[in-house]
Amino acid sequence: MILMQGKGVSKGVVKGPLYFFRRQDTTVVKTTVNDQSAEQARLQQAQERAVAQLEALAERCREEAGDESAVLFETHAMFVEDEDFVECIQSTMEEEGCNAEYAVQTAGEQFAAMFAAMDDAYMQARAADIRDVSRRILNNLMGVVEGGIDSDEPVIVAADDLAPSETIQLDKSKILGFVTQGGSGNSHTAILARTMGIPAVCGLGDALKEDYAGRLAYVDGETGSVVLEPDELTLATMREKYARQQEMNALYQTMKGQEDVTLDGKKVNVYCNIGSPEDVAAVLSNDGQGIGLFRSEFLYLAADDYPSEDTQFEAYKSVAAAMDGKRVIIRTLDIGADKQVAYFDMKKEENPALGVRAIRICLNRPEVFRAQLRALYRASAYGKIAIMFPMITSVWEVRECKRACQKVMAELEKEGIPFNKDTEIGVMIETPASVFVAEELAKEVDFFSVGTNDLTQYTLACDRQANDLGKFFDPHHPAVLRALKMAADAAHKAGIWIGICGELGADVSMLPTFLAIGIDELSVSPSAVLPLRAALRKSIAKTCTLEMLEC
Ligand code: PEP
Ligand code: MG
Repeated sequence: MILMQGKGVSKGVVKGPLYFFRRQDTTVVKTTVNDQSAEQARLQQAQERAVAQLEALAERCREEAGDESAVLFETHAMFVEDEDFVECIQSTMEEEGCNAEYAVQTAGEQFAAMFAAMDDAYMQARAADIRDVSRRILNNLMGVVEGGIDSDEPVIVAADDLAPSETIQLDKSKILGFVTQGGSGNSHTAILARTMGIPAVCGLGDALKEDYAGRLAYVDGETGSVVLEPDELTLATMREKYARQQEMNALYQTMKGQEDVTLDGKKVNVYCNIGSPEDVAAVLSNDGQGIGLFRSEFLYLAADDYPSEDTQFEAYKSVAAAMDGKRVIIRTLDIGADKQVAYFDMKKEENPALGVRAIRICLNRPEVFRAQLRALYRASAYGKIAIMFPMITSVWEVRECKRACQKVMAELEKEGIPFNKDTEIGVMIETPASVFVAEELAKEVDFFSVGTNDLTQYTLACDRQANDLGKFFDPHHPAVLRALKMAADAAHKAGIWIGICGELGADVSMLPTFLAIGIDELSVSPSAVLPLRAALRKSIAKTCTLEMLEC
């Protein structure tokens, strides 16, 4: 038996073959190719493969989501074979005697720039499509696997570490679990694993060896153990745990349709955290009563270029419509720190967690902010959207955000585009500064949502990404809990509500403290909704105490 011990960061027991994630180099280099007819044949093959892939995608989409969604892939297939586009690629190859990759990339950029420069907003949005099409042909030329996993069967993805942008681009349908050498429970990759309900273990260090590729592994996302060739006793323990997990899941199913309320009638909204429109399915199947945090930056992380206003609008609208009138809190983009996006072309920083991230980027780049706010307000006509600003430290920042909202609303009004002018606005409480000025902030907004991941990081001066800070990174620290209470008192004094959307919200052992503080909403990963509801329905709010706040 080989036992590897790490840190369990997303619960659940699974078994499956270990698959080592490889970073694929997609940098295009111009090379000279003498045999142009062989190179043209290689191009043609890549194009034919792209058309076949797109037709298969259109077919799958038609079955799962109807004709309208399939049209996108059919249009992409037409782009691949577009006469002007193909001619542009071929003539570059012939005239410059270069490789197909370079010619495809150059033609793609040329066509995208041409579309982007058009006056019509619909045609401008086609620039993203042409980039997508070029990327697909390039991937085929370079042997890059879409979705990053070259396996027909679902696998346990193993890696040294995974950046959020890498995790979000993996094909979820092929992932049974994650195991990594590095990483921490508070990293966004761990958060994504919890959002997707996929068991994950990090911090395995050198014990996780590439030699193990393809071997059957048993992963326990609670205890953090990863086992190959388990002995009888370990196998029996894992099987028993799996059976118990199934039993508990069955029990939690009985919580569906029940109200989120304590025995003595204190209502606490149990909402969900999501990273993409696809996560809504898990929200609905777990009976989440709303979305308390849509990390919109994952739309940016999953793309190769700025998602257009229209692309964002479609994403926000689909979530709002699917939630059918239930509150959907969309956080404006929180790029920076561990969430780096190449096309933002950010300056390298010594301490990115303390640098230009989140709202600071939006206020520094009004055009990026404007496109997102326009998409959000347009989508507000299709459901109950609320807008939330991250990493707030000062009242002036909120006032500036609100001015940007007013400006966008005035534009939409003028253009005759429908939107909800009463869209709720909230801020995240995730810096000590925001706690200290919470009374003033509360007068500016409709709600607070506490980001305990960053609040812990900044209050305790502990890097949330580091996996060796151990007990120093403690979201239960009285300083963090007192900050939570200060923010709650300020919110309630101003007559607004306060929720928690950081990972601490799903910690059932903290529920009595949250009830004593008077938290009104808890937003957690979809799989944590029913266990939390079960605990809430057994609690008596008026007997809960603030003893955890004592040192
Ligand atoms: C937080 O900081 O607690 C939070 C919810 O935001 P994120 O984890 O995305 O930084
Ligand atoms: Mg945060």
